[in-house]
Amino acid sequence: MHEISIAGAIVDAVLDAAAKNNAKKVNEVFLEIGELTALNPEQLKFIFGTITRNTVAEGARYNIEVIKPLIQCRKCSYRGAIQFFEKLHFFLPVIKCPECGGTDVDIIAGRECCVRKIKIT
Ligand SMILES: [Zn+2]
Repeated sequence: MHEISIAGAIVDAVLDAAAKNNAKKVNEVFLEIGELTALNPEQLKFIFGTITRNTVAEGARYNIEVIKPLIQCRKCSYRGAIQFFEKLHFFLPVIKCPECGGTDVDIIAGRECCVRKIKIT
C-alpha cells in the first residue's frame, strides 16, 4: 500500500500549485504514472477522493496516463520495451535486456510519478 504516501505527496503538490494560482477549485488533475512504480491507478483515484475532502481539490477528476517502461542496454545498445509483464503483479522483477540478457540497463521511462497539469477555476 505505498499508494497512500505517494497519493499524499501528489495531493500536496496539487494543493500547493492551486494555492499559488489562487484557485477556488481544482477541477481536473493530469498525472503520469510509470508502470514500474507498480501503483494502481484505481486505488490512487480512490485515495485522492478521500484525502482531498474539504480542500479546493475536493471532487476533482483524475486523468492518469500509465507510462510504459523503456530501457536502454549499455551492453548491446538495445532501446525499447522490456518483456516480463506477467510477473509484475508478484513484484518488481529483475530488469533485463531482451536482446542480450544483460542487466546493465538504464531505465529511460516507466518510473514517472508526476503531476503534468491541473485545471483550476
Ligand atoms: Zn542488451
